[in-house]
Amino acid sequence: MSQISPPVVIVGAGPAGCTLAGLLAQRGIDCLVFDDDKRPGLLVGESLIPGVVPVFRQLGVEDRVAQMSTRKPGASFFVTDGGPRLHFTFKNVESHLPPYSYNTPRPELDNLLRVRAEELGAKFVHARAELEPCIKDGQPSIRLSERSREVAGLSAEAEPLLVDASGRARTFSRLMDIPAKKGDRDDVAYFAHFEDFDHDDVEDGQVIISVLRAGWSWRIPLPGRLSVGVVVSKEHAKTLGATAEERLENAIRQEPLLAEKAMRARRVTPVMTYTNYQLLSERGYGPGWVLLGDAFGFVDPMLSPGLFMSLEGARQLADCVFSQGVEILKKPEALERALVRYDRRIVEWHHAWQELVKYFYDGRIFRIHLAGKNLAMKPSPFNLASRMERHSTAHIASMASGGWTRSGYSRSLMRMLSRYLVWDVPPAESFAVRQVHRDEPRSKAA
Ligand SMILES: Cc1cc2nc3c(=O)[nH]c(=O)nc-3n(C[C@H](O)[C@H](O)[C@H](O)COP(=O)(O)OP(=O)(O)OC[C@H]3O[C@@H](n4cnc5c(N)ncnc54)[C@H](O)[C@@H]3O)c2cc1C
Repeated sequence: MSQISPPVVIVGAGPAGCTLAGLLAQRGIDCLVFDDDKRPGLLVGESLIPGVVPVFRQLGVEDRVAQMSTRKPGASFFVTDGGPRLHFTFKNVESHLPPYSYNTPRPELDNLLRVRAEELGAKFVHARAELEPCIKDGQPSIRLSERSREVAGLSAEAEPLLVDASGRARTFSRLMDIPAKKGDRDDVAYFAHFEDFDHDDVEDGQVIISVLRAGWSWRIPLPGRLSVGVVVSKEHAKTLGATAEERLENAIRQEPLLAEKAMRARRVTPVMTYTNYQLLSERGYGPGWVLLGDAFGFVDPMLSPGLFMSLEGARQLADCVFSQGVEILKKPEALERALVRYDRRIVEWHHAWQELVKYFYDGRIFRIHLAGKNLAMKPSPFNLASRMERHSTAHIASMASGGWTRSGYSRSLMRMLSRYLVWDVPPAESFAVRQVHRDEPRSKAA
């Protein structure tokens, strides 16, 4: 076997790893991806936000994504027991992002991104990467085992930049004992695909997120089927049954927003279980290594930012580090500056998403919505009130689309609205995601 010496080696062929491989290949930079070939038939991460579409376009795959997907015009947020219903349309973002996105079967999307990276010239080795901690420049670092170097055919001189795109395995951080900051959530999700699960009366392709009597749920329309998932506390999950199948079935049966829609539903896949937490690594790079996608951090799936963070993270890494080509890898100071820039951007994204998602979990977003609607109905000079309401909705929709998520103005607007606009509306707790199930409707229990 001939020996190779790629400047970049990526561990993990999920969306983050394959997107980076494709983007580097477009820049003419050789890279090698370790693909452990683990492809479950069913994967979470099916609901995408408009922010991913520009990356699909950059990779030249949007047409192929569209063929395998349902077009997603927006997302709706319901609160159980007659609570508010909030409809976001991506038309609100058309000034700066595509006004739509896609709901996509994940294994197919992963395959497409891998095939595209190969078409563009990235190389794959079908093996699990084995790594070992080491010290480099006096700091914790990581290297491939001799066996992995051999399997990949790396030459003795090869000293590639190693990218951890191994997802929630967080391979590098675990081996180097890099701590992570954890967020408030510690839940478990059960999900499966159904046929004949009725969708509510919303636009075709609209995703519905529901705040349930306990936890929350997603309903994602995919071609020919509906992906239904419930996210509940681990304690509540135990009360729902012994197996994942019982838990999903009972959760659906117990929840008024889901039970009626599921009357004729047939489950057509096994039920998958995922833990749900929020986590951000305290270091994103070091000498010879860098983290990407879920391996860097995991926001929370309620607003579907996961794939966006993987794809946008890959784009940021390609832009921050490799905009001038691969020579930077031989210039330690320039490389350090570029990695700092990348690290800061990703951390900033995480903080912005975490702030936004908190408004949905603790119910403040529904208060802002109700207060805005009340205000818009009141007469005001030049229709100022209803214009203000449209302005705020557009900003929140853009934040949830991956457009103005980090914008200082949008974030300040949301904070201000939640503090000063909310008179004559129920407290945020009435709409908050709850850990424990209560049988009575929220209006009584609140
Ligand atoms: C309950 C839940 C619901 C979600 N819903 C959504 C959603 O609707 N929309 C959305 O955008 N996101 C969603 N996500 C998040 C999304 O699934 C992830 O953010 C996304 O998969 C991250 O991509 P990645 O490439 O970083 O990691 P992964 O997709 O995990 O890919 C990592 C790959 O690396 C491989 N690997 C690991 N170790 C090695 C090794 N040593 N050698 C070689 N290969 C290795 C793995 O097998 C895997 O193929 C959800 C997550 C959860 C938990």
